[in-house]
Amino acid sequence: EKPASRNFIQQAIDADRAAGRFDRRVHTRFPPEPNGYLHIGHAKAICLNSGLAREYQGKFNLRFDDTNPAKEEQEYVDSIQDDVRWLGADWQDRLFFASDYFDQLYAWAVKLVEAGKAYVCDLDGEQMRAYRGTLTEPGRDSPFRGRTVKENLDLLARMKAGEFPDGARTLRAKIDMASPNVNLRDPVMYRIKHAHHHRTGDTWSIYPSYDYTHGQSDSIEGITYSICTLEFENHRPLYDWFCKELGIHHPRQIEFARLNLTYTVMSKRKLLQLVQEKHVAGWDDPRMPTIRGLRRRGYTPDSIRAFCERIGVARQDSTIEMLWLEDAVREHLNDTAPRRMAVLRPLKVVLTNLGETETIDCTLPNHPQKPELGERAVTLTRELYIEQDDFMEEAPKKFFRLKPGGDVRLRGAGIITCDEVVKDKSGEVTELRCTFDPDHSRKVKGTIHWVSAPLALDAQVRLYDHLFKVENPDAAPEGKTFLDNLNPESLETLTAKVEPSLAKEQGGERFQFERLGYFYTDPIDSKPGHPVFNRTVTLRDAWGK
Ligand code: ATP
Ligand code: MG
Ligand code: MG
Repeated sequence: EKPASRNFIQQAIDADRAAGRFDRRVHTRFPPEPNGYLHIGHAKAICLNSGLAREYQGKFNLRFDDTNPAKEEQEYVDSIQDDVRWLGADWQDRLFFASDYFDQLYAWAVKLVEAGKAYVCDLDGEQMRAYRGTLTEPGRDSPFRGRTVKENLDLLARMKAGEFPDGARTLRAKIDMASPNVNLRDPVMYRIKHAHHHRTGDTWSIYPSYDYTHGQSDSIEGITYSICTLEFENHRPLYDWFCKELGIHHPRQIEFARLNLTYTVMSKRKLLQLVQEKHVAGWDDPRMPTIRGLRRRGYTPDSIRAFCERIGVARQDSTIEMLWLEDAVREHLNDTAPRRMAVLRPLKVVLTNLGETETIDCTLPNHPQKPELGERAVTLTRELYIEQDDFMEEAPKKFFRLKPGGDVRLRGAGIITCDEVVKDKSGEVTELRCTFDPDHSRKVKGTIHWVSAPLALDAQVRLYDHLFKVENPDAAPEGKTFLDNLNPESLETLTAKVEPSLAKEQGGERFQFERLGYFYTDPIDSKPGHPVFNRTVTLRDAWGK
């Protein structure tokens, strides 16, 4: 494999280092807003930021961007930390909260007011939009833009003291109402909001905007590279303006394209809607693109990191095929998951030449290429189950599994010949009567999996398909929403017959069920002696790769 080429962010960092732009080590951060669970798009940002810190022997912070009291909760703060840690991104002792900077941010706001760079404005939201103008039309100055420093300081102090109702006034940066960049037309720095904050309680009745908070938080923490998604590109001049006017350490903002995946949605608002309206069982439903969901599906941190590495970073928005994510976990589990046998749709087979209580001990490797994973004993009995699909009464020539009069190999046991097909009144095949031949050396084309009927364990198995039935669920026709694109067949629950050795699993183990895919013992629903299996991914993708 040829070494991966440097992406545009690495190139920018290399150039800065060569030019001695920062007098400190590379320092990145992941800045989630604690208003939902993380999704695979966030995983990309986490891998990117923590990966750069590792590569350049720098530092990586986890910072909660918790400036919006209305939508944020401790539950999200906890789950986000757990997911970031699970992904293997280590922030060590560098866990921060933007809300810890509220005092400093306020002090800086006072400084900007004193310098004549910020003012208190009494326009309401609608008026402010009207004054702001459009892309093609310059804005107009707010009638409050000319307030004196003294008046502004007084009003700001009273906003902070909670004297005014929600939305009555804002603090705005005084920049340029004619700027071609609408973000520079006197953006809001503070809003009045009498709301309880999950960390600062009722201390504050004004809250800083994203634009006024983000760069300064980066600056306080000594971040060098503030890596964010493309929609912030035209906020960068504002990011730079605040750092420059305040004369503080000035990180470099670099934008990259956000990750979009086929057959799913990635906005927290939509994911929340799926949960609240019970289209899924929760944030950790294995069909969700959340880290929680992927974890419960059986994805490994390695596979998600490998996926993020493989898709790379770009400056152009694009949508990545879900197949790539599935391939990443398939590859990792192919290497690491022990093999077991399970039958999803059982068809009974009777080996007529074995005695009622006769047993034959078979030894199967846990992994065909990895002897170090050991072996296990599997017992063959007179009655067993095979997959309904593995028998065909009127089989085409190329069908190498079991057919009347035909032979097939039972994995690890021997060869059986189908002598008789038993049917019920409706013509449904209910049983096959076969002869067993322990001689392995005979040549037969097909090998199938099986489990002993009296010894098998009944286990619930969940098979998943895409949560949405179209590649781009967000593109819904007039009058429809993404919800109309939900796939009604995204979950199938079966009672399977599995190897009895699986009875001891506690939840959290990963296996390949031979010929069926990779399965994960559900860590929540599995009970002692009753494992529940979620299919992580099939063995091959739909293209038979
Ligand atoms: P959403 O739009 O899903 O609500 P967000 O960007 O508002 O996401 P944040 O909690 O603010 O969510 O995101 C934290 C970080 O993760 C930000 O730096 C953001 O740029 C990054 N991020 C969010 N979504 C993606 C994505 N799909 N691909 C890459 N990075 C993302
Ligand atoms: Mg955000
Ligand atoms: Mg958002």
